[in-house]
Amino acid sequence: MSALLVIYDGFAFLEGEEEQALPGRFRFTFGDLQFEHASGTLELPLSRLILDQNSAGNLVFHDAGTGWWIESADGRILNDVFLLRQAHLRAQARELRERREGNRSLKYALIFLAGFVGFFFIGWLLVKAAANSLANHAPVAWEEHLTDKVIAEHPKLFIIDTNDARIGVVAQLVARLAAALPPAERRYQFQAALIDRPVVNAFALPGGRIFVFTGLLDRVQKPEELAGVLAHEMAHVTQRHGLRKLIAGGGPYYILRLFVSDQQGVLSAISAGSQLLVNQYYSRDVEHEADTIGWHYLMAANIDPRGLADFFRLQTEGEAATTIPEMFRSHPATSERIASLNRLWEKSERKSGFVQLPAWNGKS
Ligand SMILES: [Zn+2]
Repeated sequence: MSALLVIYDGFAFLEGEEEQALPGRFRFTFGDLQFEHASGTLELPLSRLILDQNSAGNLVFHDAGTGWWIESADGRILNDVFLLRQAHLRAQARELRERREGNRSLKYALIFLAGFVGFFFIGWLLVKAAANSLANHAPVAWEEHLTDKVIAEHPKLFIIDTNDARIGVVAQLVARLAAALPPAERRYQFQAALIDRPVVNAFALPGGRIFVFTGLLDRVQKPEELAGVLAHEMAHVTQRHGLRKLIAGGGPYYILRLFVSDQQGVLSAISAGSQLLVNQYYSRDVEHEADTIGWHYLMAANIDPRGLADFFRLQTEGEAATTIPEMFRSHPATSERIASLNRLWEKSERKSGFVQLPAWNGKS
């Protein structure tokens, strides 16, 4: 019998006199809770006691008859053999046990969830940092190799038009811009090519290859507009936007390959996702960055930088006149980009004295 007799630490206080709590020890007998303190023993009949839990998580017994409260942090009370002999206390103890288990499993679930989220957050940060570093430190030769693969894999897209004399003007503008690039960004050998398609667009591939559709040349009104588009595409190259996008698209996969295989392995893995480069859609932020950096390239090359905005304006007017739904238009965020380029012009300290580019007749 003595093995079942458990003694608990706690304190007792009378209702309204909580500050005069008496520390002591108590146990349960067949009919009572016996609380021993420095100056005596309290005997509270179990039949009158109500068991509950307070906001601190401690167990409390209340004897409404005498106004005494007994409080204890000892959870073993809920399994006390003598306490459980009383039907109403047994029910109250069971309810508290269930409540505590529920809280505990909720707590474990939350800890598990927090750990899980933390683990993946750290992993995600590491992969992001590694992907960023990969994009920053990949050698230019990698990018050139990647672009060669992309071109080889899409023979139907890259049908280079060598008969169009306008390539001369395009190449001259590219060379003029390239010569004026900041020294740190002069690591690319820019090459321009024409693709004979009625698409009003241009795009750049990693390593410095710039492709202009003849549809764009047909639409251009003056050489500054073309220079604006080219400077924008060159900024995509120098900022490695294409490579970044590819790496971001398959980040963890490339990073893992980098650890388990050689650089060539990663390169071929990256080029496997090259479809992303051909269907070139960049986020608004990336386009905005290319506009701004391209603007500075134009300034450095002494070319009137308003050409890109002029070209966009022409585009928007042209498209507004048609019934093409907004989502299928070539530049959905064009008015935003025109506004941002206009702000650059307003802030510009230099507004005149730009080079006179050869006249553009827009014919091949
Ligand atoms: Zn762009």
